[in-house]
Amino acid sequence: MTKPNLTRRQWMLGSGAATAGWLLQPQARAVTAGSTGIRAGAAIADITLPLGASNLGVISRNPPPTHIHDPLYARCLALDDGTTQLAFAICDLRMIDRERTEAVRRVLAEAVGLPPAHILISATHSHSAPAVLSTNLHSDLDRMYYRLLVQRIADGIRTALNRLAPAEIGWGVGQVPQHVFNRRWFMRPEAIPPNPFGETGDRVRMNPPRASEDLIRPAGPVDAQVSVLAARHVDGRPLALLANYGLHYVGGFGREDVSADYFGFFARRIRQQLDADSTWPPFVAMMSNGASGDVNNIDFRRPRQSYPPYQRMQEVADDVADEVCRVVQDLEYRRDVKLAAAETDLNLGVRRPDRQRLQWAEEIWQQVQDDTPRGRPQIYAAEARMLAEYPETVPVKLQALRIGEVGIAAAPCEVFAETGLAIKAQSPLQPSFVIELANGYNGYLPTPQQHQWGGYETWPSRGAYLDVDAEPHIRATLLELLGDVAPTV
Ligand SMILES: [Zn+2]
Repeated sequence: MTKPNLTRRQWMLGSGAATAGWLLQPQARAVTAGSTGIRAGAAIADITLPLGASNLGVISRNPPPTHIHDPLYARCLALDDGTTQLAFAICDLRMIDRERTEAVRRVLAEAVGLPPAHILISATHSHSAPAVLSTNLHSDLDRMYYRLLVQRIADGIRTALNRLAPAEIGWGVGQVPQHVFNRRWFMRPEAIPPNPFGETGDRVRMNPPRASEDLIRPAGPVDAQVSVLAARHVDGRPLALLANYGLHYVGGFGREDVSADYFGFFARRIRQQLDADSTWPPFVAMMSNGASGDVNNIDFRRPRQSYPPYQRMQEVADDVADEVCRVVQDLEYRRDVKLAAAETDLNLGVRRPDRQRLQWAEEIWQQVQDDTPRGRPQIYAAEARMLAEYPETVPVKLQALRIGEVGIAAAPCEVFAETGLAIKAQSPLQPSFVIELANGYNGYLPTPQQHQWGGYETWPSRGAYLDVDAEPHIRATLLELLGDVAPTV
């Protein structure tokens, strides 16, 4: 484990010099002049996966899609307090790697001078949307899509910036406890199969058989809170809404479909409920994923129920959206809202395969036919061979943003609920959101204790490779960054 590198921290706290490029844009200057208080703009950019392109995940493997059930969007929000701008792009993707998020940030720095650290780009984690990783590039179509994706996300943010208009912002929290369940369970030892490497000793099983008598208890908590930040025009028309809820995804999609999962259904429901279907510029609702690395929608105590495709997504989206609308009704809106941003890179160790594991992987790999691993041992052998090519340490981008009294902590990992709850509880900004899968992709983030208990999220793969002690470093650094963006009293 390398020590986190705090000396290379890039401080971008409302840097006037860095934002000057944007303020020199004629359109922005015109709007800035004479305006006091916050301005906001929102836009969507279509990032739908082309049919036939790669829709692979890391471990889960969708075939190339043959049908677009509903489009994928980058849902974008821009904010400007007169000296500082922030921008969000919440993307209907399973994950998005750092190569792509950095490319979006570069496009925006060049085009409009927006400082990179002021931009948050995250994936929702829809599993009927692509995992944007270099290793999933297989065809010309994939390469074309990846290039277009970067441009489209940047275009979405630029369009949101172009639409900046005097606004009012409100924030609040609601509760939706009925749709979040911890998916990691302690089970009787005999009910836990060996891991993909043929080793026994895991105490926790992910997605255990439902209603099994071998279930003991969940291995972690859930966070039932849904957080809301709403922007409206000064005449009261809805402008944008950014929500945050810790639910991995819902699923129940057609196997060869492209879909934004419940995140897309949520956005549509909010638009309807707020009567914002035909506003111009368009109202944009977006659901960011909270700390949900170990949380899904399945009540493991009950027997499996089957639903027609997309029904469950709709139900969950409706319930979450209705609670969000209830919260929105009571919001107190304000114009005097200050913005700030800070970010840093932590260099963290990678759990690369040792000689013995690599030897195991090479032996298993001999059995793989057509370069297509089948079954867990072959899939994890393929993952081990890929991890062997990873560097010893990787930079992990951590970011904190402030919007008025709201804190937003963003991490490029699948963060467990307990980590999210700890950050929310200890944050100097209340309320705080935790947005996962943001600004890159560094896999699952179990706590050291969870690593000891084992299970899917701890087995080394491209989806779970940070060192066992990564979580405490990331948690502490996010809290430190929140402290840095919090107002000084
Ligand atoms: Zn996941």
